[in-house]
Amino acid sequence: MSLPAPETMRRGWCPGTLRPMQTGDGWLVRLHPPRGALSPTQLAFVGALAARHGNGQIEISGRGNLQLRGVREEAHPVLVAELLNAGLVDEAMGDGPHRLVLASPLAGREAGELLDAAGLAAAIEGAGRGVAGLPAKFSIVVDGGGALALDNFSADLRLRAVATDAVVFGLPGGLWFGPIAPDSAPAIAAMLLAGFAAEERVKRGEVRRMRELDDMALSALASGLTPMPAPAPRPSPAPVGIMAERDGRFAVLAALPFGRSDATGFSPLAGLAERFAVEEIRLSPWRGLGFCGLSRAVAGELAVALAKEGLVLSPRDPRLPVSACAGAPACDRAAAATLADAATLSEVLAPLLADGLTLHVSGCVKSCARQGAADLTLLAGETGYDVILAGGTRDRPIAHLTLPELVRRLEPGQDIRAQLMAAPHHQE
Ligand code: SF4
Repeated sequence: MSLPAPETMRRGWCPGTLRPMQTGDGWLVRLHPPRGALSPTQLAFVGALAARHGNGQIEISGRGNLQLRGVREEAHPVLVAELLNAGLVDEAMGDGPHRLVLASPLAGREAGELLDAAGLAAAIEGAGRGVAGLPAKFSIVVDGGGALALDNFSADLRLRAVATDAVVFGLPGGLWFGPIAPDSAPAIAAMLLAGFAAEERVKRGEVRRMRELDDMALSALASGLTPMPAPAPRPSPAPVGIMAERDGRFAVLAALPFGRSDATGFSPLAGLAERFAVEEIRLSPWRGLGFCGLSRAVAGELAVALAKEGLVLSPRDPRLPVSACAGAPACDRAAAATLADAATLSEVLAPLLADGLTLHVSGCVKSCARQGAADLTLLAGETGYDVILAGGTRDRPIAHLTLPELVRRLEPGQDIRAQLMAAPHHQE
């Protein structure tokens, strides 16, 4: 497999394994293991690679991507060779998306899933990779219709199982079409994607996402399909905890604090997975890992052990809705130790976070850890944090405060907390 030229590895690139992206702390290498699954041995291996070739910082993103940070440019070819040898690379070549489909971390295993979402996701991924001209960030959600609903994850195209023999297609703007037999879904997805790619060519790059098309253009794409009302909404799932699998077994979903770990943290997790005979480890878009194929009793023991390792197991943990970049000292652009500060702030704001407040802590304006707005964005500067309400790092701050000042004004009865409580919680 030939690697792309180094000049293609630039800031703003949608990164993968073969084409990393330059960030403030070196190359960011995004891994796409087949099916989003790892063995315990592979998990330990990834941790070792992160330490050997990068700065030891590992992330799991809000799309379930495993990312190694601070990879040295000269180490990248060796890293790629080792990942290929370990069977850990499954990404499309070319300028389009490296991986199109986002599915449940328990796809194909989840109790209550209406059909084999893992099989459907693989078929849709294959069909989508056959369509040329898709923008790099184009994405598809494949939802098996179980309790781990993916409704809150944005997508250009959405497939949702509504029966064991029927899926429906969702386009932006609340447009739904179907029902469709699952066997026909890949061909229909390919038709919709090809229609979008053709539209993008006509508009000469002015349209990069499905949501940028108006309703008339979207309906024209789906002209052969039957419009239908939106399927019934489902409650937001608990993203962590013990989940039932379809064969009477159980999985433990656990989040990394702020979606991050250092490389040394992966070895004990892999050790636990070995000890408890975990069948496979899945990457979760709730910024964590799913440990699959366990008895109920073993799942309970593993959950306790993972919590002792510092992972998040409670759906009410205040760190779950908080995004924070790697910060200092990992990133040389960072003006603050964002992870430590985010831990402090998530304690102060715990009740508001449990009620849906979103908090983002960024070491610089680049905002690696979150695209778009949060209810409260904190941008580190030399003497403290810019405080931005209902915005992102490029929006106007209401104040610039040292961390102690900020903590004080976020405490009950203080002014910034009162403003946050008065504002409608912003969802991404
Ligand atoms: S956002 Fe954070 S991790 Fe990204 S470049 Fe800035 S300081 Fe570094």
